[in-house]
Amino acid sequence: MSSEVKVFYNKCVENSFCENKSDLSKSSCSVKNKNQINNKILYKGILVYAEQRHGKLANIVYELLNNGRKLADELNTTLSTILIGYYDDENDIKIKSQELINNGADKVYVCNNPVLFEFQDDSYTNILVQLIIREKPEIVLISATNIGRSFAPRIASRIYTGLAADCILLKIDSETRNLQQIRPVLDGKIMATILTPDNRPQISTVRSNIFNKIKTKKERKGEIFYFNTNPKLLKSRTETLGFIKNVDDEKTIKIEDADVVVAGGKGVGESKGFELIKELAKILGGVVAASKAAVDANWISSMYQIGQTGRTISPKIYIACGISGQIQHNVGMASSDIIISINKDHTCPMMQIATYALKGDMYEIIPKIIKKIKLYKKT
Ligand SMILES: Cc1cc2nc3c(=O)[nH]c(=O)nc-3n(C[C@H](O)[C@H](O)[C@H](O)COP(=O)(O)OP(=O)(O)OC[C@H]3O[C@@H](n4cnc5c(N)ncnc54)[C@H](O)[C@@H]3O)c2cc1C
Repeated sequence: MSSEVKVFYNKCVENSFCENKSDLSKSSCSVKNKNQINNKILYKGILVYAEQRHGKLANIVYELLNNGRKLADELNTTLSTILIGYYDDENDIKIKSQELINNGADKVYVCNNPVLFEFQDDSYTNILVQLIIREKPEIVLISATNIGRSFAPRIASRIYTGLAADCILLKIDSETRNLQQIRPVLDGKIMATILTPDNRPQISTVRSNIFNKIKTKKERKGEIFYFNTNPKLLKSRTETLGFIKNVDDEKTIKIEDADVVVAGGKGVGESKGFELIKELAKILGGVVAASKAAVDANWISSMYQIGQTGRTISPKIYIACGISGQIQHNVGMASSDIIISINKDHTCPMMQIATYALKGDMYEIIPKIIKKIKLYKKT
């Protein structure tokens, strides 16, 4: 770990106009004038929310940092990130912070408190709002996960700015410093570019598996700022009574993280047909997924759905079995490295975008592929 990382404790992050900047816990200031916080010139830098669950950073954080770094370089500004949660070992915080720095952050803000162990809308919103008001980033990037989707709109409304949700591409207009926030609309039929031209910060939630998520091991230098908030801001109107883990057939590999995904669609014909899909996925060391039509037919749970209203993935290999490739499905898998389509209809969109299009009945083709792989594995 780099020894050059600077660490600051307990700096006020509530309001940069506040005279009591040195000790946040004594500060009680709050922003009351919405014109004050929407003065564009005062806003500089990019802030990424470093989402974690029970201490583990979400994969999308690395994607946001990679993208945030590029945007920051284009704007010739700094990239900060905020880690909210609870780590009982100080060393863990340093390791996580250094990981964030290595992946592009110049500054890491840490808010560590036992009451923040589980995500809560109220307290997490309060903390991020405080930091935004104090640091005035011109862009805030938040993951389009359940957590991000839940608290990003609260943050935007609290600081009188706009929010572009579920973005799949972010670009900078270097002249105006406006962020072009691009996302599918009208059932994915067109891509809309959303601007927040008058207010700052520009807040976007960003879908996972869109940007490069390669973790870097290169040591970078950065600063770590610890801060405590006013205890009343840590209060929440909700309470987490327990945490039930999603029990997944694949147990260890999440669809979003899998290198190989084998998906079944309406062409599977019946729920039993997914046994064949599972067998192919297993022999390839991959996971099962599905189209909405298969989910709607109750052949498989909605947690496996890929697409606009499901998950977004970018595996090395995506095998679509009996999936026609409608736009609402394709927005969730189009960035896969290799697309293999097995379909009776060679004219359907999935066969057109496929790297390898196998025309025929999946019940004839898949057993042949499985047989070949078994043979190959034996030799
Ligand atoms: C607002 C909105 C949101 C949506 N969100 C999503 C989403 O997130 N994800 C999603 O997937 N869809 C979504 N949809 C639905 C989407 O429009 C399509 O209806 C759906 O993706 C079709 O699924 P499919 O390709 O499995 O079925 P179909 O379009 O019916 O295609 C079945 C395919 O299977 C082939 N086939 C049939 N039998 C066989 C066989 N034995 N062997 C090989 N091939 C065979 C056929 O030739 C056909 O191409 C959404 C729709 C709307 C309006």
